Amino acid sequence: MGNPLKRLAVLGSTGSIGQQTLDIVRSFPDRFQIIALAAGGNRDLLERQIAEFRPRFASARGEQPLSVARLAPEEMAAHPDVDLVVIAISGNAGLLPTLAAVKAGKPVALANKESLVTAGEIITTEAARSGAALLPVDSEHSAIWQCLAGEKAAPTRLILTASGGPFRGYSRQQLAGVTAAQALKHPSWQMGPKVTIDSATLMNKGLEVIEAHWLFKLPFERIDVLVHPQSYIHSMVEFADGAIKAQIGFPDMRLPIQYALSYPERLPNERLPRLDLGRIKQMTFDTPDFATFRCPALAIEAGRKGGTYPAVLSAADEAAVELFLAGRIGFNDIARLVEGELDRHVPVTHPFFVNIAATTESTRERVLRAAGDRTWAR
Ligand code: MG
Repeated sequence: MGNPLKRLAVLGSTGSIGQQTLDIVRSFPDRFQIIALAAGGNRDLLERQIAEFRPRFASARGEQPLSVARLAPEEMAAHPDVDLVVIAISGNAGLLPTLAAVKAGKPVALANKESLVTAGEIITTEAARSGAALLPVDSEHSAIWQCLAGEKAAPTRLILTASGGPFRGYSRQQLAGVTAAQALKHPSWQMGPKVTIDSATLMNKGLEVIEAHWLFKLPFERIDVLVHPQSYIHSMVEFADGAIKAQIGFPDMRLPIQYALSYPERLPNERLPRLDLGRIKQMTFDTPDFATFRCPALAIEAGRKGGTYPAVLSAADEAAVELFLAGRIGFNDIARLVEGELDRHVPVTHPFFVNIAATTESTRERVLRAAGDRTWAR
C-alpha cells in the first residue's frame, strides 16, 4: 500500500495554529487534502485559503454566503469523507467540535486546550468508546507523546517545560503594572493572543498540566513543571528506572503539527529549522515561582478537584484575559478574578456537557459583569 492521502477538516483555519497547519499541508500536497475549513471572523483570509486549498465546505461567523458550501464545524468534524480533524479553534468554542469528532471516531489533532481542560473526562471516555485517537498538537504534549513512542511501560513522571514567559523574575508589584502590549511579546514562541497572555501568567502551564493528566492518565502529583527559558526541550518523561527522555528541537509549532498529521510516520521537511546544539552551548532550568505567578497553582488545584471546577477556571481566565487585553483590568487581576470564581463555585461532580456549558456561560457573564462594576477591585 502506498501513502494514503489524508483528508482533513481544519477548524480554526485562520488562527495561528490553523495557518501553520495549512503551511504543512502546502508542503505535502500528495499526502494531505483539505476537505473543510472553518474560520471565525476573518473572512478575507478564509476566502484566500478557499481559493488556494479548494475545500468542499467552509464556515465562518455570520450569515453572508461563502464561495463554497457552508457546513457547521460540528458537521465537518463528523463528516464521512474526513479522515482527520484538526481542532485549532482557541477558547471554549473548541469544545463542541472536538466532542463531535471524538464521537464520530475520527482521529483528532487537538490544539484546543479548553476541550480537555473542561471536559477531559467526557472526551477521553467518548474517545475510548469510539476508538478516536487524540493526537496532541501542543508542543509539550507532543513532546511527551514522542518520548513515549516505543515504550511499553507507563512513565512514572511527566516534566512539562515552561519558558517562564516575558515576566520571569518579576515581583508581584512589578507584575501589577505590566501592559497587554508587553505581555504579548513572548520571548520564544509565536502564538495567538489568548495563549500568549496565558503564557505570561503561566496559566497556560496549569492548563497543560490538566491536559497531560487526561491525555497520559497520570495523577497530578506525578506531573511536574520545570522552567526552561530557551524552550528547546519541549518536555520530558521519567521512567521507573530513573531514565529521563526529552524531546528537543527549535521552537516552531509546525513540527508538532506535522507530527500529529503524519503520525505514525515522520515526514522529511527541509523547511523546518534545525537546532545546532554546539552553537547553543547551554540550556538552563529553574523551579517555577508559583507564589508570584498564581495561575498555575489555581489550575492544578481545580484539576485535582475535578468536576466543574476546571470549567470555571477556563471560563474565568478566558473572560479575564479579554478584559486585560482591552486594558480594563491589571495583570494580577487575572489570577484574582479566577480565584474568586473558584472560591464561590458549587461544583457538579461528574458533569454532563450541559453542566459544563452552563458553568462556562455563567462564569463568563459574572467575570465580565464584575469588571464592569469593579466591586471586586481592591
Ligand atoms: Mg504549550
